[in-house]
Amino acid sequence: MGAFDGLPIREELKSFEPYGAPQLDVPVLLNVNENPYPPSEHAVADIAADVAVAARGMNRYPDRDFLGLRADLAAYLARESGAHLEPEQLWAANGSNEVMLHILQAFGGPGRTALSFAPTYSMYPEYARDTNTAWVAGRRAEDFTLDRSKAIAAISRHRPSVVLLASPNNPTGTALPIDVTEAIVAQAAALGSVVVVDEAYAEFRRGGTPSAVSLLPAYPNLAVARTMSKAFAMAGGRVGYLAASKQFVDALRIVRLPYHLSAVTQAVARAALRHSDELLGRVEQLRVERDETVDWLRSVGLRAVDSDANFVLFGTFADRHAVWQALLDDGVLIRETGPAGWLRVSIGTGEEMAAFRASLERILKSDV
Ligand code: PMP
Repeated sequence: MGAFDGLPIREELKSFEPYGAPQLDVPVLLNVNENPYPPSEHAVADIAADVAVAARGMNRYPDRDFLGLRADLAAYLARESGAHLEPEQLWAANGSNEVMLHILQAFGGPGRTALSFAPTYSMYPEYARDTNTAWVAGRRAEDFTLDRSKAIAAISRHRPSVVLLASPNNPTGTALPIDVTEAIVAQAAALGSVVVVDEAYAEFRRGGTPSAVSLLPAYPNLAVARTMSKAFAMAGGRVGYLAASKQFVDALRIVRLPYHLSAVTQAVARAALRHSDELLGRVEQLRVERDETVDWLRSVGLRAVDSDANFVLFGTFADRHAVWQALLDDGVLIRETGPAGWLRVSIGTGEEMAAFRASLERILKSDV
């Protein structure tokens, strides 16, 4: 008996498991690229007060177009990346996953193709599957960078409606140089495609790497997706957003469900944005911890990929599952993801990283 017996589930969904890393109750959680530092009591009280205001009006539907939040997000991007955007150029949903699903709903569909370059974020093919969009994965180079001319050739060959570029990329941590991004966006524009630069980890990038938001004025076919889940320390709030041309955002407004962003979510996001300096206050520390983790992994004879994000891909192991399991046995949960033989560790607090190093050192000595 199959799990869906008697139900008319779509044929192509039958073999899938729901997406998601194991949620286990262990002391050291380094598996889903969260910010390990919770908000201060001061920020918590402010967020709670705004949620109370929202609760008093909860008999009514929320603001469907949430232009207040969109203006706050535009102001944040102006501070963070020097972008000058109108509130109508911003869009938000319940996590950047939902923002990107809106893009596939609007620009993908039967007879159309979405293209990305592997290894990359494993939800992308799921957005394609769920919108009946064909999926094509080109390859990144051995060092996980993206070759400009190969990327352009892949776009010319497959003529995708949607190109997804993660920068910094998950699970490799690799950021795209802005000239490579621009060349891809320009080629996509010439072929009538849209490009999403997924900058979920942008705030962790190393100094001097410009955000793709700097390209927005020149390219109406570009969207830059961001999230409050990572650097912003708000994964539980479920707020993702993007910046694009007004006409790009207008296309997303067609496919969104009415009132998709609850009054509670809007209140939480706006209050959190008022506390952005505090919530982002650990980013520099996490960057330092990340670079030290890369150095340490190399010092014990492992490979580690240079990272512009809050995680590091490292390896390689003949039996990566055994290493993952041995870490878990020590109470350290990391992620078994990426190309064969590699593992990914999120950057936690100094204490958590010390626990990770101690456990891995022991495992390496015991020759798992
Ligand atoms: N993009 C990338 C590259 C990610 O790694 C993630 C989360 N793992 C997301 C988008 C989605 O995050 P959220 O829906 O929490 O905004």
